[in-house]
Amino acid sequence: MPAFCLHGHFYQPPRGNPFADRLGADEIGREPGAEPYENWNEKVAAECYLPNAELGNFELMSFDVGATLLRWMEVHAPRTYGLIVEADRKHAAAHGAGNAMATPAHHTILPLARKRDKVAQIKWGMAAFAHRYGRRPAGMWLPEMAVDLETLQIMHDLGIQFTMLGESQVEGELQGAGPYWVALPGGDRLAVYVRDDALSLQIAFNIQTLGGAGRWARNTLAVRRKNGGRLTLVAVEGETFGHHHPGEEHFLHWLLSYEANAVGHTVTTLESDLRENPPTANIKIKEFTSWSCPHGLGRFAAGCDCTAGASNWKGALRRAFDNLANNVDDQYVTETEEAHADPWQLRNDYVSATLGHATVEQFLADQGVAPAHHPRLIALLAAGYFRQRMYTSATFKYEDLSRPEPRYAIANGLRAALLVQEATGADLLPAFRRDLAQAVSARTGQTGAQLLDAIPVPEPAGPVDAVARNGS
Ligand SMILES: [Zn+2]
Repeated sequence: MPAFCLHGHFYQPPRGNPFADRLGADEIGREPGAEPYENWNEKVAAECYLPNAELGNFELMSFDVGATLLRWMEVHAPRTYGLIVEADRKHAAAHGAGNAMATPAHHTILPLARKRDKVAQIKWGMAAFAHRYGRRPAGMWLPEMAVDLETLQIMHDLGIQFTMLGESQVEGELQGAGPYWVALPGGDRLAVYVRDDALSLQIAFNIQTLGGAGRWARNTLAVRRKNGGRLTLVAVEGETFGHHHPGEEHFLHWLLSYEANAVGHTVTTLESDLRENPPTANIKIKEFTSWSCPHGLGRFAAGCDCTAGASNWKGALRRAFDNLANNVDDQYVTETEEAHADPWQLRNDYVSATLGHATVEQFLADQGVAPAHHPRLIALLAAGYFRQRMYTSATFKYEDLSRPEPRYAIANGLRAALLVQEATGADLLPAFRRDLAQAVSARTGQTGAQLLDAIPVPEPAGPVDAVARNGS
């Protein structure tokens, strides 16, 4: 019998104030346009996350929820959070495998990141997944489906078994969603599912014109399978169902609980599917592609026609972030050398403190770091955390530098620079400001340096151990 899987990627970018005190990191506050809700997370939770959870849709679909969104949900939408985590548990009890996939910690466009940052993002994301779902992840969602072989190799080396890509991102003979093997540079291989791009775009953008789940199943899904292979995979933003398209959580519910079955399809999820159906065919990936930009990764790198107007601010902003990140890392490495610690292993394992498993001091003591180095390393590890947050995909996704997302990323960079200054006395801000001056908004004429200088910094900024209580 043919099989059908629908994957929902649920995500909102992190927006908590990087200067907030210990309760503040996830407090988004009031956002215009979200009325009558206080902010967009509250609005999307009410329109999409909660109704889908109440309908049981999370038990029927394959899904991932961004690590920072789950953190917000745990505090601000605890009932929804509980239902989503429970859905994975119920699915595992019923099918022998869960249906949630992990995500990299900060929704970074991984192919554009240095290798050690890829490792940190993937390790932190896997640790957050285990913390919340109580099991190791088998699958990992790639932010914006952005892919390169180095990322897949790291995921494999850390124990991830599968991911998913779009048809336009792969080469080879396709028979439905697979799974397929992708050969890795190290001689290993990773299982990759391939979504049906046309069906996915149809559901993402035209769901309200499809005449309901029953008609779509009969007219499209049932017809499609004749030449579509064993498994059909639709992968879309989870917010499609209820937020982008009001009321369509019911489309999802009827499709997965009844209508797909009615046209002869078994509804499945990927982790259990992979156990029953290991790959038999090979495909190749097209490196540096994503699901949201047909220009390589131009949308997130140097700018492209995906966003209106002049987008060359993106390249200048990324260069400013890269220089700051390297300067932060240099200061951090110097301190870890003096403390006789492995900088990248320490940074990777720091996630246990950001998840609240230990205080940062306890974590450093457990790592064998002498107490004399604790104050500086606490600040420098926090700096490393905030500089990771600059790279969340939303920073580069939209058309203008003056939007809230780039400003938020610059604020995280400022926080990182101030933490370094607190720890070592090194002032990274003049170079950061110089680089940011090269990023100019075509809409407002503002430069990144002006945005930097407009960020209100509380005196004193919140304590650095705040990260440990609000992180990941
Ligand atoms: Zn593009």
